[in-house]
Amino acid sequence: MKILKFGGTSVGTPQRMKDVSALITDGRRKIVVLSAMSGTTNTLVEIADYFKKGNDEAGHTVINKLRTKYMDHVEQLYADADIAATTRQFLDEVFMHLHSFSDVPYTPTVEKSILAQGEIISTNMVTNYLREQGVKVRLISAFDFMRLNPQGEPDMAYIKVALKRVIDADPDFDICITQGFICLNAEGEIDNLQRGGSDYTACLIGAAVRADEIQIWTDIDGMHNNDPRVVEGTTPVRQLNFEEAAELAYFGAKILHPTCIQPARYAGVPVRLLNTMDPSAPGTLINNEMQKGTIKAVAAKDNITAIKIVSSRMLLATGFLRKVFEIFETYNTSIDMVTTSEVGVSLSIDNKSRLVPIVEKLKQYGTVEVNENMCIICVVGDLSWSNVGFESLVTAAMDKIPVRMVSYGGSNHNISFLVSEADKKAALQALSERLFK
Ligand code: ASP
Ligand code: MG
Repeated sequence: MKILKFGGTSVGTPQRMKDVSALITDGRRKIVVLSAMSGTTNTLVEIADYFKKGNDEAGHTVINKLRTKYMDHVEQLYADADIAATTRQFLDEVFMHLHSFSDVPYTPTVEKSILAQGEIISTNMVTNYLREQGVKVRLISAFDFMRLNPQGEPDMAYIKVALKRVIDADPDFDICITQGFICLNAEGEIDNLQRGGSDYTACLIGAAVRADEIQIWTDIDGMHNNDPRVVEGTTPVRQLNFEEAAELAYFGAKILHPTCIQPARYAGVPVRLLNTMDPSAPGTLINNEMQKGTIKAVAAKDNITAIKIVSSRMLLATGFLRKVFEIFETYNTSIDMVTTSEVGVSLSIDNKSRLVPIVEKLKQYGTVEVNENMCIICVVGDLSWSNVGFESLVTAAMDKIPVRMVSYGGSNHNISFLVSEADKKAALQALSERLFK
């Protein structure tokens, strides 16, 4: 069985909902995970924020606007009067429920309950549409199987058992629909998998049922070999190893959240990124295979700060790096790149909110220099150390770019450069020119 996930834009209008419905009714049995219609979760965040601030009136106004929009969608989506009426009644209940949150004390659970309504609505609307089309469809609630453990991480063992129980209770369906993003926490309260978490839902379900494949449908044709917003003529990468995909996702390819594919990777279930606007395009396949001798893609991460600590005390001293790293840990700041020499260490961080106290503390150990507005350029592919020629090829492409740090050998899949943000475009273009033309 395959798991198919459609993001907010893919179900963003009644017409898109119809297109997705046509796309998934191919006679093959599947589980379909849906996001909220695009924009809805942001609107729900706004509503929650008004209630939090005690501006109930504004909250109710936004809810009413959203309600009107959805009632219009109903007009456009259904031909059958009974199904339209059922959907309107369902929407009325959801919007009454939303209004009622102004009467209870505001808590994180209230906020999450408000945010959950987007997926609850979209799955209900698409299920009703499929019913109208005569499809054997079943809607299952993510609250019945998607659960976090006390650490706030998805409870894989629970999810597996509960999902099987839910499916087995009524296995007579061609399409089973469920909500992305939403779940219960260990206390049984409404929670979520963080913004953009629907991909994660799909991968957790795919891992739990050992699916043949997890398909993430978005509005671009897979992961590109460079940032299409910066470089012209980028092309989709056909295949990526799970680790290559995770590096790219972490270092800037917005299409996928870096942690979401981990469950699929552990379960050995391939993930395919596909384009709703061009369903026949091959997209990107992410699996355990490693294509030998190929450089796959380049990605960039902005807003990086580089910190250099130089100290002659580091020479032949033990424990120097530990002391440096401990300071970052104390201020809950994670480090991306690290390079060292005998007398100094340079590292990069992407969250500079604690930069001032960190630098203060680091001054005990050496001379500290900070460069802000830097950018990590990450080259991903088969970059295992035993391959010859690849590092020099990548480095040669950067021959006109001032490079602040280079990191290679941390994994078999990547070389990273730290450059000034002002040089990002030139660096990405030069790499595309050398590596992919
Ligand atoms: N609707 C949620 C969001 O906008 C989850 C998702 O779309 O993945 O963040
Ligand atoms: Mg998304």
